[in-house]
Formats: sequence, structure tokens, C-alpha cells
Amino acid sequence: MNEKIKIRVHHLMCLRYFRNKGYSDDFCKNMAKIKQLLESQDNIELVDNCDDICSHCPNNVGGKCTSDDVVEYDKKVLDICKNLKIGCTSFQKAYTMVDEEILSEGKRQSICGNCRWNELCKSKN
Ligand code: SF4
Ligand code: SF4
Repeated sequence: MNEKIKIRVHHLMCLRYFRNKGYSDDFCKNMAKIKQLLESQDNIELVDNCDDICSHCPNNVGGKCTSDDVVEYDKKVLDICKNLKIGCTSFQKAYTMVDEEILSEGKRQSICGNCRWNELCKSKN
């Protein structure tokens, strides 16, 4: 994929913990593909709406996530990572900020502790 990969802000956290479990087989296959692509492609567009992971999610209805919680997750990540901005084009830069300022600081659950996958992600901390 040469074009920018669209990544939704809070997915910078989800990508770290993803282990081939998710909403559907198609979702998992696509997310695994994107996670692998991001190992060699740094070029992204950071967004606060549906991204290239959401594109294969059954909760994406007409380009909008049916969960209201995810909007809060995005906002909270941006609140903590003051230098992380929508439109950021470097995956490594964005991922490192989230890793250093949220995940390594043990703040993830204060953001998305109510997510249905919390126990799974917690076990990978
Ligand atoms: S708990 Fe949910 S929102 Fe949080 S990192 Fe895991 S999958 Fe993503
Ligand atoms: S639950 Fe919502 S934010 Fe998460 S991948 Fe699905 S559509 Fe995207």
C-alpha cells in the first residue's frame, strides 16, 4: 500500500495489543495486514473518525462507528499526548508518543477500561 494508511487515534493503543482477536474473521485479517504494513510503512494519516481498521469492522455502519465510547477514547489520547495532532503523517512518531506517554505510564485503562477487549489488552500489558 503506497497511499497513506488512515489510523484512528485510539487505534495506536489497540495495535500494540492486537493478537488476532476481534469483531470478525474479516476484521482480524484486515487488522493483522495493517499491523504488518505498519512495520515497513511509516506514512499514515492520523484521524478521529473511521479508518482503515474500521473499514472491515461490523460496527462501522455507513462510515460511522456505532459505539459512542470510541470518540471519548480518541479525545483522551489527544488530551494526554499534547503533541499528537490529527493529520500526523508518521506512524512511528505517533506510536512512540502513545507508548511513552500512555502505555508505559500505565494510563491505558483510564482511557478505555470500559472496552469489551479490556481484559485481553490488560493481559498483554
Ligand atoms: S481495551 Fe479496547 S480500546 Fe483499549 S487498547 Fe484494547 S482494544 Fe483498544
Ligand atoms: S468498533 Fe468502531 S472504532 Fe473500533 S474498529 Fe470498529 S468501527 Fe472502528
